[in-house]
Amino acid sequence: MRITFPNLGSMHIFCKAIAEAAGIPYVLPPPTTERTRELGEFHTNESVCLPLKIILGNFVEALEAGADTIVMVGSGPPCRLGLYDRVIKLTLRDLGYRFRWLTIPGVFNWQAFLQNHDEARHLKHELRPSNYARFPGALLLGWEKMRRCEEMERAAARKRAVAAAPAEVDARLAAGLRELDQARTRRESAAAARRTLEALDRLPETGRRPLRVRMVGEVYTVLEPGINMDIERRLGHLGVEVHRSSYFSTHIRRGSRLDPSVKRERARLLELARPWLKADVGAECNFSVAEAVDAHRSGFDGVVHVYPFSCMPETNAATVLSAVGAELGLPVLGLVLDRQDMGPRLDTLAEAFVDVMRFRREGRMA
Ligand code: SF4
Repeated sequence: MRITFPNLGSMHIFCKAIAEAAGIPYVLPPPTTERTRELGEFHTNESVCLPLKIILGNFVEALEAGADTIVMVGSGPPCRLGLYDRVIKLTLRDLGYRFRWLTIPGVFNWQAFLQNHDEARHLKHELRPSNYARFPGALLLGWEKMRRCEEMERAAARKRAVAAAPAEVDARLAAGLRELDQARTRRESAAAARRTLEALDRLPETGRRPLRVRMVGEVYTVLEPGINMDIERRLGHLGVEVHRSSYFSTHIRRGSRLDPSVKRERARLLELARPWLKADVGAECNFSVAEAVDAHRSGFDGVVHVYPFSCMPETNAATVLSAVGAELGLPVLGLVLDRQDMGPRLDTLAEAFVDVMRFRREGRMA
């Protein structure tokens, strides 16, 4: 058995940690490239969401590299993500690939357990007792790495906006993530993160007061720099501190339902969106609107809304967000992402967005 999983930001670091610590062989999907995207586009039709195309491309490349067991996150209706796992599985089978499939449910309940039961029955025979015995520790290591990873990414986003040389922040973060990836224990992970945070702290600053924006939108697009064209880094280099509305751990906490504060937070956000959006549209739509309202109340200078072309929930959110932005006087940069051909255009949009926020802060614009 050789498991694989999709590329999603730094998710490979903790997936790999879990597999290694539990003694389960794995194949990392090669980094997402133009070829990955083209594979996904070639084997689907144009109306399919961009994340599905890229994940499909990731799996084709991982299967070509020797993986035979795919682990995929699931979800529920009304968003199409609820059908991703089935659609991708069928497409890969039609292409002639042979593999096992495990879905990690969006919500952990009995239905989710039954969904995996058949596939897991075969896998059970390939796992040794030592794999089971090591699994709880592996999960803890994976969780630790996820938290440390997010801690470093948050710190880098803050520092990039004020650093005299933002490229040094990128380099230090990349080195820190590599170090974290190589850490074998929770203690080593914590030490790797501490060293990275200290190194970031020591980098010289310009002394300017950074602009602050919140990045909201479709989950995969918010978390995967390969899809959002690294907008967090691009804005950081223009002196903007980017706060993501969610990280991978946010979605795990929401899905596990173990933390009661998650339910309260969800209710609070839905309430914030209610003046503009009375129904729950699904996926992140209501949260995108609510996070924008919350950003305004928390003194942010603007909101970046990222989503893939043809994403139903976020297309709704985009319409509502233009009303929210106009009513609250909050600059909103909407980025609809599909093909990779918008790099220079994105820089122009980002620069104009930064100018608008700066003029507003200086009172030169209503
Ligand atoms: S949120 Fe949008 S992009 Fe993501 S699966 Fe749903 S429709 Fe597709």
